[in-house]
Amino acid sequence: MKYFFPDSQDQIDPSFDFLTEERDPMRVRQRDDLYAHEVFDSPPFHGLLVAKSIVDGYSSGVAGKYTGAQRNRLRREGARRFFRLDHVHGPLSIMGDCGAFTYHQLDEPPFTVEEVIEFYDRNDFDYGISVDHIVFNLKPLTPVDPGHESVQKWADRQDLTLDYANQFWKRCKDRKVRFEPLGVAQGWSPESYAKSVRELQRIGYSRIAMGGMVPYKTPEILACLAAVDGERHAGTQLHLLGISRCDNIPAFAEHGVTSFDSTSPFLQSFKDDRDNYYTPNSTYVAIRVKQVEGNPALRKRISAGEIDQRRAMTLERAALRRLREYDAGLATIDETLTAVHEYSQLVDPKVDRRADYRRTLQDMPWKDCKCPLCRKEGITIAIFRGSERNKRRGFHNLYVFRNRLRTQLGEDPM
Ligand SMILES: [Zn+2]
Repeated sequence: MKYFFPDSQDQIDPSFDFLTEERDPMRVRQRDDLYAHEVFDSPPFHGLLVAKSIVDGYSSGVAGKYTGAQRNRLRREGARRFFRLDHVHGPLSIMGDCGAFTYHQLDEPPFTVEEVIEFYDRNDFDYGISVDHIVFNLKPLTPVDPGHESVQKWADRQDLTLDYANQFWKRCKDRKVRFEPLGVAQGWSPESYAKSVRELQRIGYSRIAMGGMVPYKTPEILACLAAVDGERHAGTQLHLLGISRCDNIPAFAEHGVTSFDSTSPFLQSFKDDRDNYYTPNSTYVAIRVKQVEGNPALRKRISAGEIDQRRAMTLERAALRRLREYDAGLATIDETLTAVHEYSQLVDPKVDRRADYRRTLQDMPWKDCKCPLCRKEGITIAIFRGSERNKRRGFHNLYVFRNRLRTQLGEDPM
């Protein structure tokens, strides 16, 4: 089972000083900042998923996440050198897709088949996913009247996706591209996914990406995969696009899934309300200490006279200091909770997370983690504040997730 991590140019700055919160003035971002696969001895995933829409944006004014300089460098060096994928523990793979989630509101995908093939080939990708258009049905197991107007819309998008897959396959063969093409199965029910897979195999695909499943729960994904089983040839391999619940990967493997991609372990570190810090058997709430400086919402309330800036900064510093002292055995858990709560009362008076924070502080999960980030930074990884801390926690989560996956699949530990 191969795990692909969707790239969004997330890197950490190793020169960042958590005491002064300053960077090395000599730091050159593209040279010095590290990708997750450069932080750990063994990379926490097998490859990257790179979306054309994230790199290039598209015509109707939607910008990508890459600067013009980054795009040029990617084109000049190829993806392998750009992402520094030739890892000492073996090269990582690179899979390309269009990023259909970014343009789902359009009537048609904003890219032509030719542009997408050009993007994969020019940048030296290993796998390339055909152009697709997401079908959004949040309840794939609830029967819908076939005459319903939504079904017509979904069927149109499925037909469009299959039509693109057909053109994509032919053009890839004509051009003798170096990447392996994947067709996309879009559907709105187990039966419609099965139909897509049948058609894609007929075109010639033996690697198929299952799209539109991001909002699905595990039983819904499994029901669709079970229906696909009836059509799937012995040699056909499935990729699950965007899995947000990653607890049941081994169950997917029984239905021909050999790869998937997910941002969840990374994003949960700072987007989730609760499951911010992963451990092999549990998750913890990270301790929020907002930045007085650099937090636009907070700055606005300070300018409006709602919050006293000096008091905020004093309490913020005290909370951070207590947390460090607690980690070093120099402050009690109650002193630490009080300091964190006092500051949080000023900036977030409606929320009281003391019970969750007590559990995090009591268990000190970072002390048991063998990842280099926790070993070097200690409690810093468990503090929810600014992107350097939050991304390190996200990288730590990727490391833990990868180890969980190894255990679930019975692979050798890292
Ligand atoms: Zn760690």
